[in-house]
Amino acid sequence: RVAQFATIRDLPAETKDGVRIKLMMNAGLLLDMPHLAESGADGIGLFRTEIQFMVGDNMPKLQHQADFYREVMDTAGDKPVTFRTLDLGGDKVLPYARFEREENPAMGWRAIRIALDRPALLRYQVRALIAAAAGRVLRILLPMISSVAEFNAARALVDREIERARLLGQRQPRQVKVGAMLEVPSLAFMLPQLMRSADFVSIGSNDLLSFAFAADRTNPRVSRRYDPLNPATLSMIRQIVQSAKETGGELSLCGELAGRPLDAMTLIGLGIRKLSMSPGNIGPVKMMIRSLNYSEISQYVDKLCGRADHSLRARLIGFAAERGV
Ligand code: PEP
Ligand code: MG
Repeated sequence: RVAQFATIRDLPAETKDGVRIKLMMNAGLLLDMPHLAESGADGIGLFRTEIQFMVGDNMPKLQHQADFYREVMDTAGDKPVTFRTLDLGGDKVLPYARFEREENPAMGWRAIRIALDRPALLRYQVRALIAAAAGRVLRILLPMISSVAEFNAARALVDREIERARLLGQRQPRQVKVGAMLEVPSLAFMLPQLMRSADFVSIGSNDLLSFAFAADRTNPRVSRRYDPLNPATLSMIRQIVQSAKETGGELSLCGELAGRPLDAMTLIGLGIRKLSMSPGNIGPVKMMIRSLNYSEISQYVDKLCGRADHSLRARLIGFAAERGV
């Protein structure tokens, strides 16, 4: 099967009826970078910057961060890289930093909440990203945004750092785009307002589904209780897609769903055009796309949204099997 995927590596991820899907990969370390060329991914849709902070014995210095980001962009060449700012807290802890114990860490002091309360951390990281992206396009993704005000506060911090670099006469990035992760359900109802200040949005389905179903993804007693392929998930994503389309904003999805062929098929049917996943899943997902008819899956998932089933998996498997997807 691996050899089979190699033969389609340079072929486009396009459905039989000509809908082009962007397939991006998720990464977090330099070790991941060779997979960009090997998998034929269109770029890095999610670079988890907290991993560099989690593997070391202490907080990486600004210079160290900048060198790391520069090397990532150098290796990626012309392919775009989206850097997500530190997503700490919840299930991601730093061995050398002390976090107060919380009753519900997933809903606690994490990600952008830490960044806005301790802005020096985010400021330094953004400074390192700006320095590393001199002359290039810089894409910054903010994690766990739950309101437009939070996004705007973080974006203002980014703008201040750009202005600072300009005043210091540093070489600037060619363009800076700032986006929000959609992983908190409240933000799904604010997309028209968010899109006035966000350049793009990426659905973090791992967290979004945990919160939507009130089922902790790290708790095995409940994490399997809900099949992500159910009418509520489909309706929610369909609404997000429509909302993004009306505002003309760029939308992608970067959770685990993106890398599973059956789930990816469903997402494409719902109108998602950009998926980011582990590099090993690019081949299987591309193979699925090249055998898929977009207008058929789109009509089919539309009908599924109206059903009451606990899981739509069997139906979707049936759809795929009948059509040789
Ligand atoms: C997500 O929540 O879907 C996501 C991509 O972020 P992470 O898995 O790093 O929390
Ligand atoms: Mg997340």
